[in-house]
Amino acid sequence: MKWVYNFGAGEADGRAGMKDLLGGKGANLAEMAAIGLPVPPGFTLTTEVCTHFYKHDCLYPDDLKEQVAEALRLVEQRAGRRFGDPSNPLLVSVRSGARASMPGMMDTVLNLGLNDKTVEALAKRSGDRRFAFDSYRRFVQMYSDVVLGIELKYFEKLLERAKARRGVKADHELPVEDLEQLVKDYKEVVSQELFWGEDFPDDPEEQLWGAIGAVFGSWMNQRAKTYRHLHDIPETWGTAVNVQAMVFGNMGADCAAGVAFTRNPSDGRKDFYGEFLVNAQGEDVVAGIRTPQELTIKARKSHGSELPSLEETMPSIFRELCAVRQQLETHYKDMQDVEFTIQQGQLYMLQTRTGKRTGHAALQIAVDMAQEGLISKSQALMRLKPELIDQLLHPTLDPQAQKQVITKGLPASPGAAAGKVVFTADEAVRRLKQGEKVLLVRIETSPDDIHGLHAAEGVLTTRGGMTSHAAVVARGMGRPCVAGAGEVQVDYTAKCFTAGDVTVQEGQVVTIDGGTGEVILGEVATVPPQLSGAFATVMAWADEVRTLQVRANAETPNDARQAKEFGAEGIGLVRTEHMFFEGNRIVAMRQMILAADEADRKAALEKLLVMQREDITELFRIMEGRPVTVRLLDPPLHEFLPHSEAEMAQVAKAASVPLSRVRRRAAELHEANPMLGHRGCRLAITYPEICQMQARAIFEAAAEVGKEANRAPVAEVMVPLVATFEELSLLKTVVEQTASEVQKEQKVSINYRVGTMIELPRACLQAGKLAQQADFFSFGTNDLTQTTYGLSRDDAGAFLPEYKAKGIVDTDPFVSLDQEGVGELICVAVERGRNQRDGMKMGICGEHGGDPASIEFFNKVGLDYVSCSPFRVPIARLAAAQAAL
Ligand code: ADP
Ligand code: MG
Ligand code: MG
Repeated sequence: MKWVYNFGAGEADGRAGMKDLLGGKGANLAEMAAIGLPVPPGFTLTTEVCTHFYKHDCLYPDDLKEQVAEALRLVEQRAGRRFGDPSNPLLVSVRSGARASMPGMMDTVLNLGLNDKTVEALAKRSGDRRFAFDSYRRFVQMYSDVVLGIELKYFEKLLERAKARRGVKADHELPVEDLEQLVKDYKEVVSQELFWGEDFPDDPEEQLWGAIGAVFGSWMNQRAKTYRHLHDIPETWGTAVNVQAMVFGNMGADCAAGVAFTRNPSDGRKDFYGEFLVNAQGEDVVAGIRTPQELTIKARKSHGSELPSLEETMPSIFRELCAVRQQLETHYKDMQDVEFTIQQGQLYMLQTRTGKRTGHAALQIAVDMAQEGLISKSQALMRLKPELIDQLLHPTLDPQAQKQVITKGLPASPGAAAGKVVFTADEAVRRLKQGEKVLLVRIETSPDDIHGLHAAEGVLTTRGGMTSHAAVVARGMGRPCVAGAGEVQVDYTAKCFTAGDVTVQEGQVVTIDGGTGEVILGEVATVPPQLSGAFATVMAWADEVRTLQVRANAETPNDARQAKEFGAEGIGLVRTEHMFFEGNRIVAMRQMILAADEADRKAALEKLLVMQREDITELFRIMEGRPVTVRLLDPPLHEFLPHSEAEMAQVAKAASVPLSRVRRRAAELHEANPMLGHRGCRLAITYPEICQMQARAIFEAAAEVGKEANRAPVAEVMVPLVATFEELSLLKTVVEQTASEVQKEQKVSINYRVGTMIELPRACLQAGKLAQQADFFSFGTNDLTQTTYGLSRDDAGAFLPEYKAKGIVDTDPFVSLDQEGVGELICVAVERGRNQRDGMKMGICGEHGGDPASIEFFNKVGLDYVSCSPFRVPIARLAAAQAAL
């Protein structure tokens, strides 16, 4: 069995693709060595050694010692030094490296192999005794800390005392005698602290195995276990150990250590970006012990740094590093994050990996690399996570800004928003009218709060999850939302909320970050979204490859315009009831509901007709010939009636009816289970005049816009919650009659279709029959999920987290479609519907229409379009492209 893989001198046993076996660091060290980059020689103990170690009571494989000895001999040859040699010693670093980078693993030990003898050789050969003893001191401290588990504070105390005695401030001001003494004192501490009375190991061999054992041991420490648990990393993966010849960035002014990104990781520009420190070792740069220097003149100038850049101080090394950058990018075809060290004018590469980047940078880099020909357009598209597009559509917090986070909730709708805190929707509207920016804070929200959500910059709730009313509506409107911030106590009467020991009064400014869930005191600076440039390019490429169309769910002109701007190819769902909550329209709606007889009802409906027609006219105009699907009234009527006695009195007055009638009607309309009650097409069946009014509004709007626009509207009338053929055929007759009336009256012909929402299991099964009547199907996956699971979305919050924790469901079925169950019903409906009506148009208009995993499924089952909230349209376009690739 091969347990050890060598790398160095232009060769390697391993390659980048072997991360499972060699860990990320080891695999990339091998790759860099193999492509001829200057990598100090070394070897990797595989993750299989780790697995073996834990399978066999912490024992190594029998032949490991031998393989390590052999590998070490090869490193000695390549480096031209010998491990433990008193005149020309090889020193090594021992570095852990799991498949995925993992905090909690053992820290790197540098300068291993030093002892009282080898340090003298290092001093002699480098001609710098101070450097040698400083390395020795660091080694004893590092090894004692990470391998022997002795607290750092002992060493720090000794170091402080030495500096105080000398009257100096910085470590490097200590003279060599003091460093020599410190090494002795450090070792003294070790002997005292190791309770079995052992001394610090002087034997390099023992040091090496101690460090290797510590890396494997750290795989099972508590921090690593917790991290694995949180990130679903299996224990069986194991970690690898890298042993590598040391190079020194701290041997004088012609030495340095640094880190670099092959492109700028925050804006993605093709600028070489990095920092270094002259005369430094290891992670001094990252640790921030001195102000680092920039790599390029350009960066130095733009940061106004006084210190010279690498380009200026070591121009030939800089050119060499630029060549490495070039080679790494052409080789890996992605932005790399590298660590390098310069020893006496020689460049060494110590690590490379795919660089982390902001959403912004990811987009820019993907587009640039495709345009440079480094990757294909498809690769660029596949590389972008659709969710990251979401970050780009909203203003986000300026990463440079200071912030005081007071609590955290769920990141329910992305983007950052700041405003004066208000606790009611009305107050939000009132303050907006005065030109103030507000943030709505509620325990939870209901449809009554819509106008407040509209008026507010963002919303914070203390109850409810990612699919709570506030979250869904906020996402739909593109408002940032933090939901379910459980620590926040809202006091509506005192008009304040508290989180921990912070109390915020109405009118005080708070910022929320809907991308992280953070709630921050005061206003934090934001950066605006960027929809041109790379974003536009990626969207255009996505449109070239996708076959699934993307529409938006929208009912207000603003949403429709936004949707069009984001590239929506139509409106897949106009929820007509939303229009009735606006302004004083609710009064007309209530009059209609409270009407004593049909004549009264017709009078109220007349008023509603005017409003509805205006709204739909506007939508048709905005959409310029793209199809607009208008759904007939869906929610149970009692949702429009008030619940409190005081409100009922108000309504009675406004609608000029006796209070008793309001009370009686509210009682009549009360349902035990409204989700399954008198709603959807059942309303239109019992009140056909509502259906007539709505159909008339739609067709009169279509007729009007058809006369004025050069692209005639496409009106799609959609009947919700249909279970049976008879329901649909009855209502279709009503709609068609109205259509022919309007066409006759107006002497026009209207391009319209009548279809149905499929949101009940019965409808899926009966899809063949329904297709005899329906011109199109639109899957209402929210209700279909509720009715398939027998689960109410509003109450699922009580147990879904438990279900997730116990592994009963992987993801919230209201966020990502349950492909196995709900998905099968959709498949059945698609097949039966199209068997009846060849090529029948089918789409989906639930929340799932904006979820990438669900979109992939919808593409697979052959739907024609998805419809989602306007702000998810670009995400859906990208996800649809990825599904097609
Ligand atoms: P991490 O996983 O935390 O990045 P590394 O194994 O990369 O840890 O080691 C941290 C730092 O130690 C590196 O950035 C590098 O500067 C330094 N280092 C590691 N091995 C060597 C070596 N052989 N020679 C010089 N410096 C080294
Ligand atoms: Mg590193
Ligand atoms: Mg529905």
